[in-house]
Amino acid sequence: MELPRRVVAGDGITEQIGELLGELELGNESLIISGPNVRELVGRDLSNSLHKNGFKTRWELVGPSTFQEVERISEIARTYKADFLIGVGGGRSIDIAKLASFNSKIPFVSIPTSASHDGISSPFASVKGLDRPYSVVAKPPIAIVADTEIIGKAPPKLMISGCGDLIAKITAVKDWELSHVKTGEYYGRYSASLALLSAHLVLEDASIISPLNNESVRVVVEALISSGVAAGIAGSSRPCSGSEHLFSHAMDIVAPGRGLHGERCGIGTIMMSKLQGSDSESIRRSLETIGLPTKASGINATNDEIIKALVLAREIRKERYTILDEVRLTEASARKLALGTGVID
Ligand SMILES: [Zn+2]
Repeated sequence: MELPRRVVAGDGITEQIGELLGELELGNESLIISGPNVRELVGRDLSNSLHKNGFKTRWELVGPSTFQEVERISEIARTYKADFLIGVGGGRSIDIAKLASFNSKIPFVSIPTSASHDGISSPFASVKGLDRPYSVVAKPPIAIVADTEIIGKAPPKLMISGCGDLIAKITAVKDWELSHVKTGEYYGRYSASLALLSAHLVLEDASIISPLNNESVRVVVEALISSGVAAGIAGSSRPCSGSEHLFSHAMDIVAPGRGLHGERCGIGTIMMSKLQGSDSESIRRSLETIGLPTKASGINATNDEIIKALVLAREIRKERYTILDEVRLTEASARKLALGTGVID
């Protein structure tokens, strides 16, 4: 079990980052990575806070989310003799920081500026150029500092997508239970409950999440952090990622660029919950209340792309037993499922 040592969420917390990290005694040389917009947004405040507390900083802008970029950042960390890495941003910078810190055997700090998925706190990362389309194990952040004021200013679509990644835990945990029964796979009741709790927070309070305000930003950020931590406790992405994620990864192969990760997972959850015999209609309604897409057209996908992805999903990760191993979807049954859940017309 590997867990973050410090998790802090709050309005305007960026100013206190130097002090917070000082308490962790990580060393003085920090390598910060982010995209250009994020640097514009938080660069000055973050650097000031670090310098005031005796840290040296080097800021590196990251390119595309690829394996090569991870290598480049790892190399910089080595030559600069960084004591720790800080990833600031949405997905890309945090994923790259996570993998580069794993390569260079130094800790990394996660500073999310949006809350669109649970990668902000989980030990898993995905970049292009690896031999598989799903996340790989790296290590969890040593600290997570979430400034809810900054996250609240990100485009609402991102946080709404984060809710889709949370609701996905409903089907992910069911798949995990199923695998436990059918294959004898280890099942961690505690991490499963924690992941489910995160999902229920947004599922049952869908009307609190929308419209977005201070309160809802806090709920979603905390839920995403706990769900990433649940994966850390389980030592696998099992509590967070089941057949609905396989559908999302399959969509990425069939038709790259359709919707955000959490949006695709949300649509996957509607269909997989139906296969699992759960109340998919109430999940669909909650997604709708939050403002998540529930139809193919909502992520600019065609009916055919949805059906192809449904059929392909099981092939993505064969060792992960899910409902897709119980109900082998064909083109005809996939179409029926997508039609029956209103995902396609
Ligand atoms: Zn996810």
